Amino acid sequence: MRIVLMGPPGAGKGTQAVSLANQLGIAHISTGDIFRSNVSDKTELGLLAKKYMDAGEYVPDSVTNEMVKHRLAEPDVQHGFLLDGYPRTVAQVAELDVILSKLGAQVDLVIELTVDIDEVVKRLVQRSLQQGRSDDSEEVIRRRLEVYQEQTAPLLAAYRARGVLKSVSGMGEIEQVRERLAQLVAS
Ligand code: AMP
Repeated sequence: MRIVLMGPPGAGKGTQAVSLANQLGIAHISTGDIFRSNVSDKTELGLLAKKYMDAGEYVPDSVTNEMVKHRLAEPDVQHGFLLDGYPRTVAQVAELDVILSKLGAQVDLVIELTVDIDEVVKRLVQRSLQQGRSDDSEEVIRRRLEVYQEQTAPLLAAYRARGVLKSVSGMGEIEQVRERLAQLVAS
C-alpha cells in the first residue's frame, strides 16, 4: 500500500505516521526527518535545508524531489510506503506521479489529518519547549501554517478529485487518533 499522510504542521503526522507504517509493515518516509538528520550530520544538504527550515519555509522542490527520488529507489519501499510530509507542493505531486509511474504504481490513499488551528499552535509551542526545535518559535510557527495554507492545502482538492482522499480528525488523544487511522486503513 502506498499512502500519503497530510495535515498542517502540528497535526500529529509524525507520531501517527510511525505507528500506522508499523501496523501496515510498510516503510515510513518523513522528509522532515531526513532533512533533520542531514542538519545534525552537517551535510551539504543539511546546511542548505536548515536555512529554509529555520525560517518556516519549504526547502526548494528541486532539492526535495531529488532526495525523495533516491529514497524511493531503496529496496524497503517495494512493499509500500507511508509518505509523511511529502508531497507539499504542486511540483512535488507531479514528481511523485512520475516516480511512481516508472514503477507502474500510484498513490493508493491520501489521508488528511484535520485539526483546529488553535490546537495546532498550542501543540507546536509545547513541542518547541520539549524538543527545542529551532523551527518552532512562535513567529516561525505562524509562517509554517501560512505556507501550508498557501502551498499544501490546495493539493487536497487534487487528491480528492482523484478519489483517493480520506479525512480523519487529528483531535483528541494520540491513542484515539491512532485507532481512527487503524480503522480507516482496515476498511
Ligand atoms: P516536518 O517535520 O515535516 O514538519 O518538516 C520540517 C521542515 O522540513 C519543513 O518546515 C520544511 O522546511 C522542510 N520540509 C519537510 N518536507 C518538505 C517538503 N516535502 N518540501 C519542502 N520542505 C520540506
